Amino acid sequence: MSGEPKRASLLIVGSGPAAIAAAVTFARYADPSEQCLVLDEMSTSGGQIWRSGSTNGLAKYWLDGMSLPNIHRKQGQVLDVLPQKPGVVFQSPNGETQICLGNDLVLATGARERWIPFPGWTLPGVVGMGGLQAMIKTGLCVANKRVVIAGSGPLMYPVARSVQKAKGKLLLLAEQASFAKLANFTAHLPAYPEKAFEALGYLAKLWKVSSPVGTWVQQAGGEGRLEWVQMTNGKKSWRMECDYLATGCHLIPNIDLARMAGCTIEKDRVKVDSLGQTSRSHLYAIGECTGVGGAERAIAQGIVAGLAAAGQRELSHHQSAALPRWERFVQLLDATFSPRSELLDQIREDTIVCRCEDIPHGKIKPMSCWREAKLQTRLGMGPCQGKVCGPAAKALYGFEPDFPRPPFQPLSAQALFQMYQSENQES
Ligand SMILES: Cc1cc2nc3c(=O)[nH]c(=O)nc-3n(C[C@H](O)[C@H](O)[C@H](O)COP(=O)(O)OP(=O)(O)OC[C@H]3O[C@@H](n4cnc5c(N)ncnc54)[C@H](O)[C@@H]3O)c2cc1C
Repeated sequence: MSGEPKRASLLIVGSGPAAIAAAVTFARYADPSEQCLVLDEMSTSGGQIWRSGSTNGLAKYWLDGMSLPNIHRKQGQVLDVLPQKPGVVFQSPNGETQICLGNDLVLATGARERWIPFPGWTLPGVVGMGGLQAMIKTGLCVANKRVVIAGSGPLMYPVARSVQKAKGKLLLLAEQASFAKLANFTAHLPAYPEKAFEALGYLAKLWKVSSPVGTWVQQAGGEGRLEWVQMTNGKKSWRMECDYLATGCHLIPNIDLARMAGCTIEKDRVKVDSLGQTSRSHLYAIGECTGVGGAERAIAQGIVAGLAAAGQRELSHHQSAALPRWERFVQLLDATFSPRSELLDQIREDTIVCRCEDIPHGKIKPMSCWREAKLQTRLGMGPCQGKVCGPAAKALYGFEPDFPRPPFQPLSAQALFQMYQSENQES
């Protein structure tokens, strides 16, 4: 373990738009002697959306703010939240663990993709939508490769643009949500002009791509690698040859750290008040861990929490007036892009559900709960620790995952020992 605990006035986990807005606002409004420490496993700030440095004005404004002198950033994984005080156990990339403490702690851990297993989803060539985007950003060549994007949610559109820009052959952009749900979504969009303009921008670029709605993947197949996908709209099915299938069913909040901290969770997201305060004192949650609503909402929440942590309560309350509108947007996204029941019905006995441990549906189906499935089949016991199969098992079997226990990712025995040693010293 590396020495004394690191202390800051404001400690933030994550460095996506929500965290950046909180850090920069705090740095501007708090006393200059107060320090803000930002912890993130990624090497650069920006989170999922600005991870490779965005050129848009909004992103630039906030990313530039991260160079304020009282903001400090450390790269590494947060492994646990301390039970008694606002603080975390942090592991830097060289394996060293350290306690970091703050007067206030902000969790801004974002969201991740949700996958509903279907036959063939573990074949090489079948990837998450965000995964494909990240691989393209980091050098994967998809030029002249045939790409099918089939899933749900607004993330499909930036991913489709990434494929287009990388000169991939985008064969299909299929949304599983029904026409009726999408019509309702579109009818509400004028209340969110920034989102409506963004959507129009994508439509202008993607209008030539075949984009059916109420259409989903039934099966993926190929000899050792993806060669084709079978699509359906519920009335007819057809096969398409392709090199990549990018799929995923909207996003789900990353709530593991908040659950470990004992924060109240409601509807699979961290429950917060109008200032971002969780059920635990001095612990805030902002951004997509409190509901999936896009970068603008994450920034609005970050500003409110940053002001509150800087002691600017009145300003913070004033700014929080913008949040109920975004809360309605979260609910609209959830209602529109929730997985249709047909996605749950097409799984087969031999379809892998837990891909870390290779456990098929047929072995999990007879189990009565997550714990029994874990003990009998090793469901959720692989390297992802249930991050992928947990939400799938909840959707397929109604299993509520167990209370997360630290560390929620595999560690070396030495790091595990250091982690408990440092926690004991602090308690
Ligand atoms: C894969 C993916 C790709 C996306 N791509 C786009 C896009 O192209 N365009 C778009 O408009 N929207 C995109 N989105 C949605 C967009 O990311 C969000 O709307 C926005 O970034 C939310 O901001 P946030 O600050 O809440 O979370 P995020 O931006 O997700 O930031 C969360 C941060 O927390 C860090 N973190 C989480 N847990 C830990 C831990 N235990 N220890 C250390 N660090 C931790 C992560 O590394 C991450 O940097 C994407 C979402 C995902 C999941």
